[in-house]
Amino acid sequence: MNMPTYVPASTPTHTAVRGVLRQLAAAGALGMAVLYGVAFADSPLAHNAAHDVRHITVKPCH
Ligand SMILES: [Zn+2]
Repeated sequence: MNMPTYVPASTPTHTAVRGVLRQLAAAGALGMAVLYGVAFADSPLAHNAAHDVRHITVKPCH
């Protein structure tokens, strides 16, 4: 008599979670690249726009 093959029910969910985590990491990395790319841009217009957003969103600044 063969034992039933055990298939973990969490396998698809685990794969989906890994996919979501990878997407979140990629989105976070892109966001940080854009944020720092704009914040340290040579263009004063882009820099001031990013600075104004910091003040509007009540983030700690200077
Ligand atoms: Zn400021």
